[in-house]
Amino acid sequence: MAAITVTPAVPAPASATAAPPSLSLPLPLLHSTVLGWYDAHARDLPWRTPEASPWAVMVSEFMLQQTPVKRVLPAYEAWLERWPTPADLAADAPGEAVRMWGRLGYPRRALRLHGAAVAITEQHGGLVPDDHATLLSLPGVGEYTAAAVASFAFRQRHVVLDTNVRRVFARAVTGVEYPAQATTAAERRTAAALLPDDAGTAATWAVGVMELGALVCTARGPECGGCPLFSHCAWQRAGCPPYEGPARRGQTYEGTDRQVRGKLLAVLRDAHGEVGQARLDAVWPDAVQRARALDGLVADGLVEPVEQGVYRLPQ
Ligand code: SF4
Repeated sequence: MAAITVTPAVPAPASATAAPPSLSLPLPLLHSTVLGWYDAHARDLPWRTPEASPWAVMVSEFMLQQTPVKRVLPAYEAWLERWPTPADLAADAPGEAVRMWGRLGYPRRALRLHGAAVAITEQHGGLVPDDHATLLSLPGVGEYTAAAVASFAFRQRHVVLDTNVRRVFARAVTGVEYPAQATTAAERRTAAALLPDDAGTAATWAVGVMELGALVCTARGPECGGCPLFSHCAWQRAGCPPYEGPARRGQTYEGTDRQVRGKLLAVLRDAHGEVGQARLDAVWPDAVQRARALDGLVADGLVEPVEQGVYRLPQ
């Protein structure tokens, strides 16, 4: 059986003198290896059960984009208990979505999810569309979310590239420790070349590679000894060369405008009504940074000015 050689998604390190190794494994064997591992090791998550509706899958994908599973789980359960369908959420004010989002972070996702629920209710009969292009047309739904919902809710065949998948492919296929900062066309070609032909298998492959990246091929401490791809991984075969690309973005939070925005929004979430300037001023000592953060919240539609010095969540 011929082995597949996949075009590298990320250039080899500048110091490399020979062609980088690639994942030389027949595609059917690659698929069965990852799918077998997933079958044995997948976490039991509520959005992966057969009972999870397309709406539940969509909610999970919005929440999981920038938040770990552990923090998403209780928020996901509470969200679906309150709004089991898109129409339920659409009937509520966007500010309620922001309130329920709580401390998940990046709260614009709550507004976007509310916007998607309104569009689904008004334009699609209250049902999450099963067509990738229609999903992509919904507010707040980008390439990744459309592909993920189409794959995981409707078992379709799409390239699903999140940070975990990109990292696995960068290491196992291309032989570098980390992918480029932003997704490249070459990465999409690599992912497409590896996708199983059968739609249902492709959907499981997508979540299987994602799970491998989340549990084994992690960003800082890959557990290569327990990885099903260990003997075939291009990065391993190259001797685990260290990352040589541009500095990777950190996740600093303390002292940033993001932190101030979080504090301001927490006051508004807890208030259940209008809030005066004095209560907002109490959350952060730097008046310039505080004003900048509040202006940003207003510009993003997360906070509504009612009158001079009075604010509330959007109605
Ligand atoms: S062997 Fe290590 S680096 Fe390669 S795919 Fe597995 S966990 Fe990732």
